[in-house]
Amino acid sequence: MTQKAQRHGGQTTRAVVQRLESLQRAGVTHVGKIPAVEAEAPLASETPASEAPAGDKAAALAVVAQEVAACSRCAELARTRTQTVFGAGNPHARLVFLGEAPGADEDRQGEPFVGRAGKLLTDMIEKGMKLRRADVYILNVLRCRPPGNRNPAPVEAASCRQFLDRQLAVIEPEFICCLGAVAAQNLLQTTTSIGRLRGHFHDYHGIKVLCTYHPAYLLRNPAAKRPTWEDLQLLMEAMGLG
Ligand code: URA
Repeated sequence: MTQKAQRHGGQTTRAVVQRLESLQRAGVTHVGKIPAVEAEAPLASETPASEAPAGDKAAALAVVAQEVAACSRCAELARTRTQTVFGAGNPHARLVFLGEAPGADEDRQGEPFVGRAGKLLTDMIEKGMKLRRADVYILNVLRCRPPGNRNPAPVEAASCRQFLDRQLAVIEPEFICCLGAVAAQNLLQTTTSIGRLRGHFHDYHGIKVLCTYHPAYLLRNPAAKRPTWEDLQLLMEAMGLG
């Protein structure tokens, strides 16, 4: 084998290992054939739902995760990402947290909300709501890091939307907590401010949606922690959590 071929083989192996680790974090314990790393992502409609064994949410998520890992629809994001960040948590979660997009830490580790804002989110879930992070599901509007942590472009959010909706269709959560304006406005397709969206429930295809401030905003504006805690208490009450 030439040196170039060996180097390419090493990169491919690393990409496959990253993909397997990302699938594991997404709650997947078994995978079938992994498509070629450079493969073009098929359109959503080309992957029949019946590919996933009925009732097996982890397997159904694995099908979507494999497509996400090969997605190159947003050319700039596909070129600049280290890896895709699919989502992580319990495929049977009652509660999904929706963030904006991976940052530098998430891009490196392949898991959502693992940086400073992620630590605060984990505290909100575990210390505040007395749930385990592993019992909820966490995902983002985008599955790739926007360079420089810029806001997702509307066309990027639209391209990634089918993945979000398919993940939600598999998980079937009762509740979604939108973290910040980008998540809330994208999910609910509105331009209303987060200040007006928070504090009461919205409906998204039968799922109860509560919007609150993004943990990164709370790090910059600690005064917003109080209304955020009030939002989480609303959520806990609706979920029947003491
Ligand atoms: N901020 C987000 O919105 N999502 C992440 O995954 C990390 C930080």
